[in-house]
Amino acid sequence: MISMNRFPALRPICLIALAAFLAGALFTFAMPEKPTPPETCAVNVSESASACALPSHVDLSGKGFPVQRSDAEWRERLTEIQYHVARNQGTERPFANPYHDNKRVGLYRCVGCDTPLFSSTDKFDSGTGWPSFTQPIDPRTLGEHRDTSYGMVRIEVHCAVCGSHQGHVFPDGPKPTGLRYCINSASMRFEAAESADAIRELVLAWYAARVD
Ligand SMILES: [Zn+2]
Repeated sequence: MISMNRFPALRPICLIALAAFLAGALFTFAMPEKPTPPETCAVNVSESASACALPSHVDLSGKGFPVQRSDAEWRERLTEIQYHVARNQGTERPFANPYHDNKRVGLYRCVGCDTPLFSSTDKFDSGTGWPSFTQPIDPRTLGEHRDTSYGMVRIEVHCAVCGSHQGHVFPDGPKPTGLRYCINSASMRFEAAESADAIRELVLAWYAARVD
């Protein structure tokens, strides 16, 4: 580990690098490019993973997400199971959730703030009993956090706009990404659409509303 006291000349360089990084992150978030249109997912059956069933113990309280609500506001907006999963990083029961077998075309928004997170065009049947996707619509709106609870290393994923817990991502998914985003139905709100183009329109409308 490099001590900054021993290398005072590094301080301004580090500060400049940090400032550049923060400016870049801010610019990226404030001025999002048009997201890449979602591609059709190759449907495969991935391995069942009981790790989906374990809740998370990641502390997201200090992250300063753009959308902030009081606990009372969260409880008013969300049902009991939605609050438990999205705000307390719980996990719903497999197969006994509304979207695990949902094959309709449409958009999955964050239940906490309506951000478009997943598309039906990236959804596949993982056999786990939870909605599973090969990729998010836009990686910038889905935050990741290393979760080491239960003696295993998992990658927790959450809405980067309001911090609502979504689920975990595992490296055993089908093509094209090889990833399996194991997401709770309780963390999402499904909005039906007529086609993949219609989904893109909904996504772009959300971005346009943020830029205005
Ligand atoms: Zn959200």
